[in-house]
Amino acid sequence: MNPRTNLKGSLGCLTVMVVLLLVTAYVATGRLNPIAVFSAKGIFGKVVVSVSLVVIGAVLLQAFAQFFLRFQIRLTSGKSADDLICLGCGQPLMPFISSHGLPIYCPQCRTWWHNGLACYSKGLEHQLSVPTVPCPTCRKKYSQSMGFFGEPDDS
Ligand SMILES: [Zn+2]
Ligand SMILES: [Zn+2]
Repeated sequence: MNPRTNLKGSLGCLTVMVVLLLVTAYVATGRLNPIAVFSAKGIFGKVVVSVSLVVIGAVLLQAFAQFFLRFQIRLTSGKSADDLICLGCGQPLMPFISSHGLPIYCPQCRTWWHNGLACYSKGLEHQLSVPTVPCPTCRKKYSQSMGFFGEPDDS
């Protein structure tokens, strides 16, 4: 799967919602102003406009979050987010977010991981909502050098 299709999908969704918003506004009020729907009669227009606005907000927020994430990845790894392979599971970082978890950065070894049970939290009972840094590799090194926190082998 091409990770860029994600962004394209968001843009497509956004376009559909904006068109729906304007058409609803025009049908309900005769003007292309979605806000005017709220002072017009009829609950249907208000519901459609409210839902559209919420969806548009969510899509924009998601697009912004992904843009920020890609920027962060480029800044820390010097590579495009699309070229980055997760060192935890060996899968491409961005396309496997939905199944393997959101990317998390280990500042100690400067690698990106998926924060999920299939990757970063492997061997742990629960996915860590606030992951402990450093990553499993550094955690293992650390525990060995300290002589405690013996981690079970995942063999
Ligand atoms: Zn991974
Ligand atoms: Zn690390």
